[in-house]
Amino acid sequence: MRESSGNCGKCGICLSVCPVYKVLKEEQASPRARVQLIRAYGEKRLASTPLLKELIAKCLMCGSCAANCPSGVDHYSSFMEMRSRLIDDHGDRLEIRGLVYLLARERRLRMAMGMARMGQGVLPDRVAARFKLGNIAVDRFPRLNSRQFRKTVPEEIAPAKEAGQERGTVLYFTGCASNYIYGETGEAVVGLLTRLGYRVIIPREQSCCSVPMLYHGGVDEALTNIEQNIKSFHRPDIKAIIVDCPTCGSALKHEFAAMMERFDRGELMRQKALDIAEKTLDIMSFVYSHLSEMRFSRDSSTPIPEGPVSYHLPCHLKNSFVSAERVLNNIAEVDYVAAEDTSECCGGGGTFFYEYPEVAGKIAGSKIDNIRRTGAKTWLTDCPVCRINLSARLDSADDITMMHPAKYLQQKLVDVIREEDGDCDSCNGL
Ligand code: SF4
Ligand code: SF4
Repeated sequence: MRESSGNCGKCGICLSVCPVYKVLKEEQASPRARVQLIRAYGEKRLASTPLLKELIAKCLMCGSCAANCPSGVDHYSSFMEMRSRLIDDHGDRLEIRGLVYLLARERRLRMAMGMARMGQGVLPDRVAARFKLGNIAVDRFPRLNSRQFRKTVPEEIAPAKEAGQERGTVLYFTGCASNYIYGETGEAVVGLLTRLGYRVIIPREQSCCSVPMLYHGGVDEALTNIEQNIKSFHRPDIKAIIVDCPTCGSALKHEFAAMMERFDRGELMRQKALDIAEKTLDIMSFVYSHLSEMRFSRDSSTPIPEGPVSYHLPCHLKNSFVSAERVLNNIAEVDYVAAEDTSECCGGGGTFFYEYPEVAGKIAGSKIDNIRRTGAKTWLTDCPVCRINLSARLDSADDITMMHPAKYLQQKLVDVIREEDGDCDSCNGL
């Protein structure tokens, strides 16, 4: 467990990594200030006010401050608890409350997504171009999947025929984004895993990872979802739990066990959550552990843009897993070009791009200037919110396609060469 905010030595290192502070350049928008405000509130020197709520909420919850703090201050947990308290005291925007309500039950989300899909189908382009979410025109958002991804595949998928001998079973946590928006990411993840010889189980009973609810004070709703997910994903017989979204991944890795402990859900549930945390791996780390067996082609028969490829590293990946850059840099057939600010935050931050459009626009604008400088025509990123936030702000003249790195690699993969004994040295037991 990391030390509490009392440990903050006010050194200011966290300021240099905070994307919000870098844009606003105001002490009150810094992680250090939030830590001090929370401390003052805890010591009853500061009252709960709407201004305090605003200062705490203007944060992307990217985790960069916690990852870089030399005193081990646990910003993440204290921000989350404080947000929850302040929402209890002062409420939240109606539309955000609506989002928490929908995410709390899979069937509500399913219904809302069905209606939104119908809306996308009938809304004339000129109307969609006039309405904005944050400062992004509605017609710049991605089209929703015509069918939920999880309905398009069986619950259990056998390894691909070309894979030869079966290598084990993995579970796949699809998250809401692949299920409802980016179905092609889900197909690519399944394609890569089955081609590598794995049986893939996509538990039907899975729901939102709970992070959006935790950021917006929906603690009870989050607990219900987390317990449901622990029930579905705790399987002693599986080798790994694969995620394609870094935020879902960081929830499975850190929040599930933390919530079981914080709300005293018993030792058994905590142990199950810890087991899930240990087995959780993002798809690109999984690919990396098998890279020596995979053969890619320079040209692809499937329609991916030719030319250099660049990458945006999402904060939750950077702070919980390892950058997909190590995969891209290690494949001779990929013409990878890093942007000057590959690992800088994009300003998406869950609902941050909607709640603080000016700050989000400035952060994303600088990323877009830099991607233009690379000359890349394909821009990869693992996080669906980063992808929405960045792709919506590109000009059509940019002619840049954004996709998940798993999709890009699946299209380039031509063969998997298995070692004779069916095991490989670099696979870390997978
Ligand atoms: S880096 Fe840590 S110790 Fe330094 S100011 Fe920020 S929170 Fe305090
Ligand atoms: S979580 Fe990210 S945005 Fe929030 S204070 Fe820390 S570094 Fe800044």
